[in-house]
Amino acid sequence: VLDLLRARGSRVTTSRRALLHALFDTPRDRTAEDLAAEIHDAAPDMNISTVYRNLDELERLGVVTHTHLGHGPATYNLANLARGHLVCDSCGAVIEAPGEIFDRLSAEVELRFGFDIDPNHFAIPGKCRGCRQ
Ligand SMILES: [Zn+2]
Ligand SMILES: [Zn+2]
Repeated sequence: VLDLLRARGSRVTTSRRALLHALFDTPRDRTAEDLAAEIHDAAPDMNISTVYRNLDELERLGVVTHTHLGHGPATYNLANLARGHLVCDSCGAVIEAPGEIFDRLSAEVELRFGFDIDPNHFAIPGKCRGCRQ
């Protein structure tokens, strides 16, 4: 990733390196705020707007992607780990759904509307098994 950044003419700063470390060391969905807190020790000069700017750039490079789990802020993860999310309206449980779950819906929508869905960008709301009982 560092090579990719350099090849695209981006500077590899200490803060950017710290951000990438955090993303690769524990790959999971988290907000920019969470990331800023995680890397605070390694890069104390990196404020929240710098984190957002860096995430935007990494997203343009295809390294990072974001998703919206609900009404709160977007969460970020490595792009190669992108998957769908099912979020329970009652208890807030988040279920990670592998991409192939959406294959049939994808094919159907493509066929009927010529539309290419992106099921990973927003979570699908509903009720989890526990809350339905
Ligand atoms: Zn978005
Ligand atoms: Zn629930």
